[in-house]
Amino acid sequence: MKKYTYIWAIALVTIFSSSCKNESTKTDAPAETADTTGFDVKVDRFADLQVLRYEVPGLDKLTPKQKELVYYLSEAALCGRDIIYASNFRHNIQIRRTLEQIYEKYDGDRTTDNWSKFEVYLKRIWFSNGIHHHYSEKKIMPEFDEAYFRSLVEHTPNATWPVMEGEQGTDMINKLVPVLFDPNIAAKKVVKDKGVDLVVESANNYYGEGITQAMADKHYKAMVKPGDTTPVEYGLNSRLVMGANGPEDLVYKSGGLYGKALDKMIYWLEKAKGVAENEKQAEHLGMLINYFQTGDLHQWDKTNIAWVNSTEGDIDFILGFIEVYGDAISYKGAYEGVIEIKDFDASERMKVMSENAQWFEDNSPIMAEHKKANVVGVSYKVVNVAQEAGDAAPSTPIGVNLPNSNWIRSTHGSKSVSLGNIVQAYDNAAGSGSTDEFYLTDEAKERRKKYGTLSGKLHTAMHEVIGHASGKINPGVGTPKETLKNYGNTLEEARADLVALYYIYDQKLIDLGLMESLDVGKAEYDGYIMNGMMLQLRRLEEGENIEEDHMRNRQLVAAWCYERGKANNVIERKTVDGKTYFVVNDYAKLRVLFGDLLREIQRIKSEGDYKAAEALVETYGVKADQDLLKEVKKRYEKFDLAPYSGFLQPTLTAVLDAEGKFKDLSVSYDATFAEQMMRFSRSYSFLGNDGN
Ligand code: ZN
Repeated sequence: MKKYTYIWAIALVTIFSSSCKNESTKTDAPAETADTTGFDVKVDRFADLQVLRYEVPGLDKLTPKQKELVYYLSEAALCGRDIIYASNFRHNIQIRRTLEQIYEKYDGDRTTDNWSKFEVYLKRIWFSNGIHHHYSEKKIMPEFDEAYFRSLVEHTPNATWPVMEGEQGTDMINKLVPVLFDPNIAAKKVVKDKGVDLVVESANNYYGEGITQAMADKHYKAMVKPGDTTPVEYGLNSRLVMGANGPEDLVYKSGGLYGKALDKMIYWLEKAKGVAENEKQAEHLGMLINYFQTGDLHQWDKTNIAWVNSTEGDIDFILGFIEVYGDAISYKGAYEGVIEIKDFDASERMKVMSENAQWFEDNSPIMAEHKKANVVGVSYKVVNVAQEAGDAAPSTPIGVNLPNSNWIRSTHGSKSVSLGNIVQAYDNAAGSGSTDEFYLTDEAKERRKKYGTLSGKLHTAMHEVIGHASGKINPGVGTPKETLKNYGNTLEEARADLVALYYIYDQKLIDLGLMESLDVGKAEYDGYIMNGMMLQLRRLEEGENIEEDHMRNRQLVAAWCYERGKANNVIERKTVDGKTYFVVNDYAKLRVLFGDLLREIQRIKSEGDYKAAEALVETYGVKADQDLLKEVKKRYEKFDLAPYSGFLQPTLTAVLDAEGKFKDLSVSYDATFAEQMMRFSRSYSFLGNDGN
């Protein structure tokens, strides 16, 4: 349904569905985790982008057969790489291959400024899976001119130009030059402006020449059967083109559009099916194969139902034409693949919390009448990614909630996952510099560096598993959506955060073996207060106030405690060398304040007290201190963190025995982003130069 991405390199909080059951509430304190493993996360930095890499924890805990499954699924996902280029824009494959020919074979000077600009341009195209920026959707303009481009072509003597049938190399270059250099041609991949034809104006390749928005809408609306309660996702897996008798769908399937890539995927999926962990997984794989063979959307629905029901394995995956953000009128699914391994450590944490959910409820500071007699922990899944492809790479979500079909979600449920190792890589990329910048004492700095990662994970787990599960609404009082209206989400997030904050400084977590000392709690308190009082403001523009529910909740919690604790100097605002800090002086008293606020917010929810909800949020959660906002933005500048991040994929290699049978899986990394992209283009280019 939704995918959640980091917009800024450092920890944009994930904004999950408004029902908020599945949202990660990692405090976005600036990821103070110095990399403790010696694994260098940063790979490349250019334009407004940075390329990071992630580790694959848990791979060593898999059996050889499970590793084999991971390998086959990863290969299947990579085989679809060309599809995302082809569907983003019709000339993308030709352009990419042309630039790659130059990159590989140009015999001129590679030390000039222009050559660097050419390299950056190509890397940006790789990053965005085409010539349009992955986030802004605008065409990426080269910083070199047409004359330089033509000289590159001229000095690439041994090029194999990716011409289409009947096309000459020179014709192709002449065709592509205006596409690359004229800002008015194919200016935007997805146009959502009011009053224009969204299909005609968008540069993506989901609709052929001559198809208008009205035609497309009419075409798909005509397919809807009146009263159908189980509609398929009409138009999801096809390009709509003008045929002899009007608009017709070119379906993505074996023997159809993108068939050459899909056949390779099917090959690997068959192998995967042979080593599936259990029957349900094998069944799901078989259905997916059938769907890629037939392109039948009813089969896609059945596949998704099988996927929702396949929950027992340690390995799971997302593969197909899924999110529709790339189509301005939201019919067309973008190709994506994400191969996941269960996060064994996180699952263990969740399990411990879930098993003790009643203890947490019984010992909570909320009023007795608002406690649940039988509380059941919310199930929440963290996975580690082993491979990503298509729309999920290099730029990736950090959490996914699927399938998208509403009737399947309500009838059969959905799966919601947080991508743990991706979040970890983001954390590590931020480095420890920001910790030194924003925490005043050496003690606090050390604690954040030592325990920041663990405290964040424990906070998230408690927020999700016991926070949202806690408390009950008084008989006769409506749902928070009805009673608290627009303030409901903010307070629900605050409530779940407060449960986590209250318990992270509790001996119980030590007794449960989840942490070694209360210093973990202190690290979380320092981070939460600093973030809520000022750090998160860096995401706003000057003059803006806080709109987003999670941001409102964090400022509300921090600012309320700051004010209530003033008499006892619980949290102190200090200015040192012109820099502002919020320092926690008394952790035990701060914990009491968290408990007080939790009790009050639970009361508001249980009683449906709209007036109190409004007063709390409006007083503490909305207004952004503009001086702090300016200061924090300024202090972040020196870290040169790119606005957008993407990932290098781990190279998974099958280790075979003497008889050629799978023995083990080895993980390595390409040395550079360019190296990986060139390797992918060599190994996983299955579509023709015309993109079919
Ligand atoms: Zn939440």
